[in-house]
Amino acid sequence: MKLVLMSCCAPCSAGAIKQLATGEIPEVEDFIVLFFNPNIFPVAEYDKRLSEQIKYCEKLGVKYAIGEYNHSLWLDAVRGLEQELERGKRCSKCFQFRFDYAKKWALEHGFDAVTSVFGVSKHKDQSQVDCAGEKALGIKYIPIKWDEALRQKIGHESNFYRQNYCGCEFSIRKKITTPTEKTSNPIPIR
Ligand code: SF4
Repeated sequence: MKLVLMSCCAPCSAGAIKQLATGEIPEVEDFIVLFFNPNIFPVAEYDKRLSEQIKYCEKLGVKYAIGEYNHSLWLDAVRGLEQELERGKRCSKCFQFRFDYAKKWALEHGFDAVTSVFGVSKHKDQSQVDCAGEKALGIKYIPIKWDEALRQKIGHESNFYRQNYCGCEFSIRKKITTPTEKTSNPIPIR
């Protein structure tokens, strides 16, 4: 099987890429990492995550492709769901928007199936991701349970840039401040 692995960032995808690159998933003969994340805001954050992703793929000699970054189009897709909490309806829409693109891309580039690492963070719900992957129109979605211990191990050994929010502007949480505190930086939530 020729597989497209959708990735949101290097820390989430490191273990999965390693597993695929070392042939740990026997059904997969060939794969590519697809970075399609128009949900990420602002663009400086997108650039940081993309650059870390490229560095890791190049280190392992793995193929990668970069999808179009059009944040306005993504905002249109989730309009009306801005106030939803993480794991809510906005996230379902966001996953499906990205899977729709990936399945179309995969078909156009001769791949057989699509999977992702969107559910690996402890803040995510894997069944919500799988549901969106299956709902998206086009070729097959393959749910894969990645090796979390391996992902953690690579994370500890690497000095990846680590974000403290999922990606979109609606997932940036403001710190609750006391009257004596002056800052309102986002708190680490990943
Ligand atoms: S919180 Fe994350 S998954 Fe949910 S809509 Fe925002 S970027 Fe997408």
